[in-house]
Amino acid sequence: MYNMLTGIRIGVSRCQAKIRRPLTDLDYTAKHKFTFDIVGNELTPSAKYDFKFKDYAPWVFRELREYFHLDPADYLLSLTAKYILSELGSPGKSGSFFYFSRDYRFIIKTIRHGEHKFLRSILKDYHEHVKANPHTLLSRFYGLHRVKLPRGKKIHFVIMNNLFPPHRDIHETYDLKGSAVGREYPEEKAAQKKGAVLKDLNWIKRGRELELGPEKRAMFEAQIRSDVELLQKLNIMDYSLLIGLHDMKRGNKENLRQDALQVVQPETNAGALKREPTTGKRGTEKDAFALRAAVRRSDPKALGSTATARLPERETSDRHHFVFYQDEGGFRSTNENNEATDWVYYFGIIDTLTLYNGVKRGEHYWKSLTNNSTMISAIHPVPYGKRFCNFLFSVIRGADKSQRPRME
Ligand code: ATP
Ligand code: CA
Ligand code: CA
Repeated sequence: MYNMLTGIRIGVSRCQAKIRRPLTDLDYTAKHKFTFDIVGNELTPSAKYDFKFKDYAPWVFRELREYFHLDPADYLLSLTAKYILSELGSPGKSGSFFYFSRDYRFIIKTIRHGEHKFLRSILKDYHEHVKANPHTLLSRFYGLHRVKLPRGKKIHFVIMNNLFPPHRDIHETYDLKGSAVGREYPEEKAAQKKGAVLKDLNWIKRGRELELGPEKRAMFEAQIRSDVELLQKLNIMDYSLLIGLHDMKRGNKENLRQDALQVVQPETNAGALKREPTTGKRGTEKDAFALRAAVRRSDPKALGSTATARLPERETSDRHHFVFYQDEGGFRSTNENNEATDWVYYFGIIDTLTLYNGVKRGEHYWKSLTNNSTMISAIHPVPYGKRFCNFLFSVIRGADKSQRPRME
């Protein structure tokens, strides 16, 4: 973690210090290499450990961060302040690790080499899409990097937006794909575990709907369509709409965010990366709790003593630029007359780096032997996108339910 953050600090500030210039084709494939060691040299300051760092396409990401209205100083501060990150562990099946920046705005996700190569290969299309679609719902990629440790282990990672806000309880979370096979989180377990990520079948069984009046509904549908078109063109599948529901009637009194926040101090937790992600949190929860309480009380003294993270109380500055993130950092539900109702939705399309290749084709074949082949997750990107859209449009209140893909 220390290496990742030190690398980012040097890489990003190096690029940011130069005068802006138009991108060239070479910028998309560029990589800048930094070697860190204990002694340091004129290019890299001395570091605590020996490691190598690569910054991919720095000029492209610099421009992307501009489109996403990130303030460069803010970005660096969030990612590289002394005490940094809390750990989400490894929630998916893929084995990727997730870390939050200390203010909860950014997520670092470790990715596989294949995903890394793939992102580099589609970077130009992604960049063009973001430029043409300022309100895109696709995962926002702010940086792509690699660290290499002395024994040669390479870790690739991206920096992305955290869809969920630091200052709001999320009452239910869903990861929706429009597929039915394996798309249910056991309800008994969900009752035990606050903040569990539920899936398509839970959404249907609980009778959830997206309450969007005509105006917001049109915006939502148009953006999803445009984003999915790109994903289809790039041969991507297996992505989902991650959606957090905030019920304004319940407000923030249950203090749910605290569960998600586990503060890790890089200084004292050098072994944190190696630790079992699900068991290592004891002892840090108390800190997070104290911190949260201090933030609530705005008590600077208490904050000083537990200042291991910084939780902004209000919405941070970039979100108000984007329609889908402009109401309290999210998208407020509306009725048929386009008047606000009781929900705030926090959503975006995540896990967008899976190319439909040999592995996924094989998975399709094996799963289709035992299941209805249109309902499984691994299908060709074109029908995948179509099914994804149909499902999302069918869960909007008042939608024609007969359009809903059959989910039995
Ligand atoms: P798999 O390939 O098995 O689905 P993965 O490791 O690629 O898993 P993702 O699907 O990208 O992981 O994400 C796993 C979970 O992490 C999500 O369901 C969500 O809870 C959380 N998560 C991922 N991206 C974000 C984000 N941008 N904002 C907030 N939470 C996120
Ligand atoms: Ca996923
Ligand atoms: Ca994945």
